[in-house]
Amino acid sequence: MKLKKILLLGLASALCLGGCAERREAAQHMLENQKMENRHEATSFAMDTIMTFVVLHEDGEELIIDAEQEVRRLENLLSVTLEDSDVSRLNAAAGKEAVKVDADTQTLLAAGQSLGEKTGGAFDIAISPIVKAWGFTEEEHHVPTQEELEALLPLTDPSDVILEGETAYLRKEGMAVDLGGIAKGYASDRVAALLREKGVESAILTLGGNVYGIGTKPSGEKWEVALANPLDADDYCGLISIANQAVVTSGGYQRYFEENGKKYHHIINPATGYPAESGLLQVTIISESGMEADVLSTALFVMGLEDALTYWQENGGFEAIFVTEAGEVVATEGADSCFAFEGRDNDFTYRVVERN
Ligand code: ADP
Ligand code: MG
Repeated sequence: MKLKKILLLGLASALCLGGCAERREAAQHMLENQKMENRHEATSFAMDTIMTFVVLHEDGEELIIDAEQEVRRLENLLSVTLEDSDVSRLNAAAGKEAVKVDADTQTLLAAGQSLGEKTGGAFDIAISPIVKAWGFTEEEHHVPTQEELEALLPLTDPSDVILEGETAYLRKEGMAVDLGGIAKGYASDRVAALLREKGVESAILTLGGNVYGIGTKPSGEKWEVALANPLDADDYCGLISIANQAVVTSGGYQRYFEENGKKYHHIINPATGYPAESGLLQVTIISESGMEADVLSTALFVMGLEDALTYWQENGGFEAIFVTEAGEVVATEGADSCFAFEGRDNDFTYRVVERN
């Protein structure tokens, strides 16, 4: 591939020597076409979502298969529904015994636990009993009673997840972990690392609401990710430009059910056991770490705008765009610099928050 590129570049400069702008353009075109020939794209279904990988590389076709296999491997470890997964075995042994888990599972449990602490409990890897009670795990939705939730809340303390050596242990019977708010972000990081190792310098990976851009587009421009309009699936609120970054969006509009005219979504406030009602419709995180972006999109949604902005001011390392129920799109300073807000067909207003 390098050789082809050099030959083409040689051709381009030879044409330039001819001094003809038109020919230079034609050569440029050939170069672009060459790059597009190396564009490979595939869509699959894994981790309960649709994934699309676009890879710019002459071996792209095989590399995408490797990428999809890596996602499957992680899904087989981390799924809360697949019976033989590490997570399922860990959950089945809750209150009984420690279970040997894969290094990736161990990493993710540890990261989830420490990010949970850092977010003041807004992110909770042990939230599964509550998520199940609402029927989100098996897609059999119903509103649990207050008593039911109160009985389950003591089983959701992430500090009762004990990690030791290669093993994990859930201290109380009835406990269970659910990595649904972190696994896709972690998977995007792993796939990006795998592709980079194999020489990929340009790719865009979409794992449901988790997007990761490797390098830039072949043209050198940044990758563009549309920010969904949480009120209208056919519309968007603007474009986010990224290079070597993840963009992750969480929102209550993505997965929910209705009972007696009220909507219940899948992001749970661990303090109450109810779907978080924080005044936010949507949170988008931009970060170099897909895993951290995934966790924070969920955690900051639970926190609500004010606490989320305080968290951003105090911690940094990421940027965020919030859409509020009041119709405001609020971007942190760093997010504003890579975000083109478009309010044309919707009623949102736009505001930027600066770093203290
Ligand atoms: P999605 O998986 O749809 O992209 P999120 O990344 O926001 O959405 O993760 C939501 C999922 O994480 C839920 O489906 C559930 O499995 C789990 N979850 C729900 N609430 C929490 C929470 N407070 N902390 C950690 N995980 C959560
Ligand atoms: Mg998340």
